[in-house]
Amino acid sequence: MKPAENEEDSRKGRADFIREIIAADVAAGKNGGQVVTRFPPEPNGYLHIGHAKSICLNYGISQEGENRRFHLRFDDTNPSKEETEYVDSIMEDVRWLGAEWGENLFYASDYFEQLYAWAVELIRAGKAYVDDSTPDEIREGRGTLTEPGMASPFRDRSVEENLELFARMRAGEFPDGARVLRAKIDMASPNLNLRDPVMYRIMHKEHHRTGNAWCLYPNYDYAHGQSDAIEGITHSICTLEFENHRPLYDWFVENLPVPSRPHQYEFARLNLSYTVMSKRKLLELVKGGLVSGWDDPRMPTVCGLRRRGFTPESIRNFCKTIGVTKFNGLTDVAVLEYSVREHLNRVAPRVMAVLRPLKVVIENYPEDGEEEMRAVNNPEDPEAGTRPVPLSREILIEADDFLEDPPKGFYRLSPGTEVRLRYSYCITCTGVEKDAEGNVVALRATYDPETLGKNPEGRKVKAAIHWVSARHAVDAEIRLYDRLFTLPEPEGKDAGPDYKANLNPASLEVVAGAKLEASLVAAVPGERFQFERLGYFCVDKDSAPGALLFNRTVALKDSWAKVAER
Ligand code: ATP
Ligand code: MG
Repeated sequence: MKPAENEEDSRKGRADFIREIIAADVAAGKNGGQVVTRFPPEPNGYLHIGHAKSICLNYGISQEGENRRFHLRFDDTNPSKEETEYVDSIMEDVRWLGAEWGENLFYASDYFEQLYAWAVELIRAGKAYVDDSTPDEIREGRGTLTEPGMASPFRDRSVEENLELFARMRAGEFPDGARVLRAKIDMASPNLNLRDPVMYRIMHKEHHRTGNAWCLYPNYDYAHGQSDAIEGITHSICTLEFENHRPLYDWFVENLPVPSRPHQYEFARLNLSYTVMSKRKLLELVKGGLVSGWDDPRMPTVCGLRRRGFTPESIRNFCKTIGVTKFNGLTDVAVLEYSVREHLNRVAPRVMAVLRPLKVVIENYPEDGEEEMRAVNNPEDPEAGTRPVPLSREILIEADDFLEDPPKGFYRLSPGTEVRLRYSYCITCTGVEKDAEGNVVALRATYDPETLGKNPEGRKVKAAIHWVSARHAVDAEIRLYDRLFTLPEPEGKDAGPDYKANLNPASLEVVAGAKLEASLVAAVPGERFQFERLGYFCVDKDSAPGALLFNRTVALKDSWAKVAER
């Protein structure tokens, strides 16, 4: 991983530009020295790693000084796509990431009455009007970047008529799309967002919280800033796409008697390679059965990453590493993988597991013999201690730790060579058993009883391989994940018209006959381990005693792959 400039910044204790602005505001005594941030998800899908970036930024800032507060606000202004299922999952994910909102849980829908009252005030002030144009007419009338917009024929309605029509819109007298309320700003503004933006639309649709109380719903641009102002948000942080909405954000706040004066700041959204990040597309993958659900471990969702075995710490560290800037870029998913590998290396207990077993019969080991070897639980953590691992005459090793005809530089097992069994003796391969087709089905070996905990005299053993005792091993199914898409930018300009055509057909590989060391018999969902020499694995939520199921979170770096490359 190439360390980003931001990582260097944070190591040197340099703040990002938003934290610099906040520090200056606090120093200048703005907002009475208070800093209030919020995370404002729309409950129309599950959170993804991009949202995690926003959560870490907003919550992180709230923890970095006195008089600071963090709000969780559901931006639930569009009942057509929003559901309670999403509200619940978002709360679970935000909490899991470590952000705490305490008492400060809010819903934009709680402000519907106030927002309506303020809209009436704008009408009274001649700054909003009811437009009967069709959505197409409104779009056409808005003009382009090079042409000014055209005033709607309804722009100069009287205040009285506007008030009456707006009240009737609320009362449910008109069908969906018949009329909208627009702010009366400037049809010739170079900023299209100021060309009389729509504030309210008619939608006869039940809302997950307000039920059928409303058939009139505010647009994001109108609801958002006013919600910020109601809650006393001081720094309203959003992604760069909203930069040219800021003049509109400011216009509403300046033209309404709101109780506080929030300011909007924009940062670059996170884009990650080999995945898509919009909730709409993620929903499409779920609905289309292209993944097993929102929490499919290949998904960039927070619940998918959790099921995959990511830790909250690793996601927070990732967010710290990528930093906060104003430049849109593409972050290599390897940076995310690095962060979880780095964390699990410190905390995950080591165990031995064999994904594709090859039997080895240790011929000079007693038939019914059994010994307890001592395996180190975590070399990074001296406190973690050791555990017993049983050895017997028949063991299983990883099939690819044996090559009958090894190339130069291959130090693992092959006929006549000696390797160490991790935490145990050295063995020498003395024979190869094959089936009728010539496939290797078992190996014969001898062990040297003098090599427990010490090197054999006069012989150099260059590799230590993992193993399990055949008699003691427990069965498991292991799911190996690869990138969800074959292209770093599945929606990029070279990616073709349908990003779904770029799904990686090999993103999931199910390994059915894995054998694990006996201590894993009682592993429970959510537990994470390092399978020695293979990677980090996590017990899946569908795992059960007797039917163990593991997900590979991330592989260890494979030194052999590098050798082979060279
Ligand atoms: P999507 O485009 O994925 O559907 P969204 O912006 O519509 O996301 P919201 O629920 O409106 O989703 O987002 C909540 C907050 O998360 C917003 O403040 C938004 O700016 C932020 N956010 C969304 N996506 C990203 C991202 N990729 N990187 C950083 N912040 C993001
Ligand atoms: Mg949105």
